[in-house]
Amino acid sequence: MASDCVFCKIAAGEIPAEIVAESDQTVAFRDINPKAPVHVLVIPREHQPDIASLAAASPAVAAEVLEQTRVVARQESYEDYNIVFNTGAEAGQTVFHAHAHVLAGVDVSKLFLA
Ligand code: AMP
Ligand code: ZN
Repeated sequence: MASDCVFCKIAAGEIPAEIVAESDQTVAFRDINPKAPVHVLVIPREHQPDIASLAAASPAVAAEVLEQTRVVARQESYEDYNIVFNTGAEAGQTVFHAHAHVLAGVDVSKLFLA
C-alpha cells in the first residue's frame, strides 16, 4: 500500500466509498463525480501507478480488473459499456493508482472515437 494514495486507502477501508463489488485482487466503487448513469472505478488492491505498470508487473491482476468491469456492468443491468484507462497526467490521469472507469448508459465512444 502507498501511504499517500487515496485509492489504497479506499481498498483498505480507511476512506469511505460506495463499494459495489470486490474480488480477491480488486475493488469496485462509484466515482465521486459521475460522468455517466453508471460510472464505477475498478482498482487493483495492489498499488501500481497506472494500468500499463500493472499489466507489466502483474498481468493476472490486470486481467482480473478487466473481468470485473463486466461483473460491474452486468450488476448495474448493462451488457454494453465503455472502459477508460487514463494513463499519464497529459492524458488526464489525476489519481496515480491504476483504475478502470466503467461507463454505461451513454456511448462514450461517440464523444471522441467516432
Ligand atoms: P483519472 O482522471 O482517470 O485519474 O480519474 C480519477 C477519478 O477518480 C475521477 O473520475 C474522480 O472523480 C475519481 N475520484 C477521486 N477521488 C475519489 C474518491 N474518494 N471516491 C470516488 N472517486 C474518486
Ligand atoms: Zn494506491
